[in-house]
Amino acid sequence: MSKYDHIRNEAYEANMQLPKLGLVLFTFGNVSAADRSLGVFAIKPSGVPYEQLSPEKMVIVDFDGKTVDGSLRPSSDTLTHAVLYKHWEKIGGITHTHSTYATSWAQSQRDIPIFGTTHADHNTVDVPCAPPMSDEMIRGDYEYQTGFQILNCFKEKKLDYEEVEMVLVGNHAPFTWGKDAAKAVYNSAVLESVAQMALLTEQINPKAPRLKDALIKKHFERKHGPNSYYGQ
Ligand SMILES: [Zn+2]
Repeated sequence: MSKYDHIRNEAYEANMQLPKLGLVLFTFGNVSAADRSLGVFAIKPSGVPYEQLSPEKMVIVDFDGKTVDGSLRPSSDTLTHAVLYKHWEKIGGITHTHSTYATSWAQSQRDIPIFGTTHADHNTVDVPCAPPMSDEMIRGDYEYQTGFQILNCFKEKKLDYEEVEMVLVGNHAPFTWGKDAAKAVYNSAVLESVAQMALLTEQINPKAPRLKDALIKKHFERKHGPNSYYGQ
């Protein structure tokens, strides 16, 4: 028994969902689960295939990215997770994948337009795509700077991380988060589906308009208004 067992289990279960949901190939992708009272998170070890993972192999890291417990090397994306946990105090889980459709939008350096109500049930804005990182950021501490690229994108676009729980990093891939690791994985699957639908929408009708304001407002209120009734 260790005081980290609960987040190791949570991170393990969430990581195992990624191959099941078709969101990862080989060892791509990682999920972490935080315990705010302990000031740490559990994350997938680097380079270990999903079928060889176990809760004990999850690495415990603090919000500065320093390993606190565990014998394996944490995921190479650990510093990006650490930066987001440190600055966004209400998130409890983060997922990173290179899922095909969301990554294709990231590579195209485009926000995913809000075309329909599936999208609006989760976000009432376009899914933001942060610009590709500068040469200076890439040459520096790359994974650490990726976290700041995401924070800067939300600042510039005046987005609230509790309202929009997903982002694309230009030329790279998506990151999603939520109150816990399971919600972060859920958001990752929703994003992949929304990304696929948006691509097909533009193929079927290159002039497809964005969702009407009345529908955006309706879906926002359904989730947040005084008479909210949309269950999640
Ligand atoms: Zn990546």
